[in-house]
Amino acid sequence: MSQQYQRRRTFAIISHPDAGKTTLTEKLLLFGGAIQLAGTVKGRKSARHATSDWMAMEKERGISVTSSVMQFPFDDHIVNLLDTPGHADFSEDTYRTLTAVDSAMMVIDCAKGVEERTIKLMEVCRLRDTPIYTFINKLDREGRDPMELMDEVERVLGIQCTPVTWPIGMGKRLKGIYHLLEDRIYIYEEAKGGARGVHRSIDGLASPEAREFLGDDADDYADEVELVREASPAFDLDAYLSGRLTPVFFGSAIANFGVQELLESFVRTAPAPRPANTTVREVDPGEEKLTGFVFKVQANMDPAHRDRVAFMRICSGQFRPGMKLRHVRIGKDVKISKALTFMASEREQAEEAWAGDIIGLHNHGTIRIGDTFTEGEELQFTGIPNFAPELFRRAVLADPLRMKQLQKGLDQLCEEGATQLFRPLRNNDLILGAVGQLQFDVVAERLRTEYGVDCKFEAINVATARWTYSEDERELERFRRRAEDNLAIDHSGALVYIAPTRVNLDLAMERNPEIEFRATRDHL
Ligand code: GDP
Repeated sequence: MSQQYQRRRTFAIISHPDAGKTTLTEKLLLFGGAIQLAGTVKGRKSARHATSDWMAMEKERGISVTSSVMQFPFDDHIVNLLDTPGHADFSEDTYRTLTAVDSAMMVIDCAKGVEERTIKLMEVCRLRDTPIYTFINKLDREGRDPMELMDEVERVLGIQCTPVTWPIGMGKRLKGIYHLLEDRIYIYEEAKGGARGVHRSIDGLASPEAREFLGDDADDYADEVELVREASPAFDLDAYLSGRLTPVFFGSAIANFGVQELLESFVRTAPAPRPANTTVREVDPGEEKLTGFVFKVQANMDPAHRDRVAFMRICSGQFRPGMKLRHVRIGKDVKISKALTFMASEREQAEEAWAGDIIGLHNHGTIRIGDTFTEGEELQFTGIPNFAPELFRRAVLADPLRMKQLQKGLDQLCEEGATQLFRPLRNNDLILGAVGQLQFDVVAERLRTEYGVDCKFEAINVATARWTYSEDERELERFRRRAEDNLAIDHSGALVYIAPTRVNLDLAMERNPEIEFRATRDHL
């Protein structure tokens, strides 16, 4: 049992769009023996470019659900790679996915360096001290000086870098990478058409073979490596595990070069599932009884059946089909006769799942993001945030008689977490909040095709929202009366302050010091 979870490596790739996340994912799957899926990953990605693409792609939801989690074996480990949506507008979904991983892999384009979205994602990783691996990609193209790239990572992202591989040339002059820990050169050869990549290597930088291979550059390169060793800290496991230091690898995902070295090191070093916090106590992954939490809900995967899938990260114990689980928030026991598992290779259908694994539960609308399942114990996992949306629109129906369908559609789509629904206390508006404009288009389109509701989203005078709390019930009640015009109830029943302007929010906070205004809502 403890062996089962210790073999798990559950992670996500974080990157700025176009840095090579999809390409790297494909190559990792190749190593995991899930070759037939490589094309699938590719097919999904155009999503972020336009709404229409997104729609077309989402029509094939079967694909998108099975590839939101990809499980494959590698070197006696079980790797769970959780996909994060590419489009900037879906960042909230991404953030929540990051609560379900034990570590992350950051991909950086060697020509572009640290980009804006990577900075944001790293901020989220930092909230939980997520350990980070770094892959500097596209070495087959002319890029920036590797030393300069590492400096930038350190300076902008505030994490120490320790190189594990180091490039020998770049772009047209790329000859290979040098593995600083193995003292071995891996010779660059472009892998053809999805091959796993050829691995010719030379042992020892000082060996005659290496010197011959490097030719006139041999001395200069040896000096450079010396300098790199001196300038960077030694790898320190604790510093890595606490998110203060990242091992850095160089390579070219498209040429499948440097990827195997990355993956081999990753499964050896990255953490297995670790203890997780709950409202009651810390849960150890080695515990016998199953616990887990839902970090993602995807609606209407199959439009014919209106089904929804809740993605649950297992935090302890073992899942077996047919077992009974307590749905803690609603206090009900449910028998789970079947769950989706995500073996990337179709030949192997895993029936069992362990701490670190993700399973998909069929959901008829009762399961929400943040929900905890146990074998009976009353505890709830904490730390799965909902972020305050930055854009707000009012839903306006073309046909008022479709109100019921609209409410139902919005409720169900908001369960997915990409958008949030607010109902003001003082009127019957339905206000939708999102992190990006695209989400409104997507919701309108899905309301039309999935719920038969024609609805527009109108601008509304709301600048920002804050979840409001107080330990003191009386204070809360007073605040509720005083600020009624600006209060709304969100999809989960929580009280939210809706501010027409930032200034208004500041004033409200000043006038109500006994009330806490939070920019995120813990799913509890
Ligand atoms: P994502 O947006 O991060 O998923 O990036 P993709 O994997 O889709 O890659 C974006 C573009 O960069 C695509 O055109 C890829 O073919 C290309 N690309 C990815 N990796 C490499 C690489 O190692 N070298 C080169 N030259 N291009 C790459």
